[in-house]
Amino acid sequence: MVIDTELWDDEELQIFSKYKYRCSWCEIRMSEVLHELDPKSKNKNWKAEGNRVPLCAKCHTMAHKVGTPTFRKMFKEKYDVSE
Ligand SMILES: [Zn+2]
Ligand SMILES: [Zn+2]
Repeated sequence: MVIDTELWDDEELQIFSKYKYRCSWCEIRMSEVLHELDPKSKNKNWKAEGNRVPLCAKCHTMAHKVGTPTFRKMFKEKYDVSE
């Protein structure tokens, strides 16, 4: 278990638990961070359900490398979420 329960509040732990503590992108490695699909700077509702997704460090680096809007699109496609 990589998740340090003292670092996260109940709501956040719920999100990790929803994905069984795995990275929501590669689904192989354990998640380490919560990534905002809509970043805090762009969406005051960034804590809304579904906006924060658990990622492993590798996928998180990738998400920011491709850019938040691109990753958001990729993520929605992967999980087939319509806007
Ligand atoms: Zn991953
Ligand atoms: Zn992020």
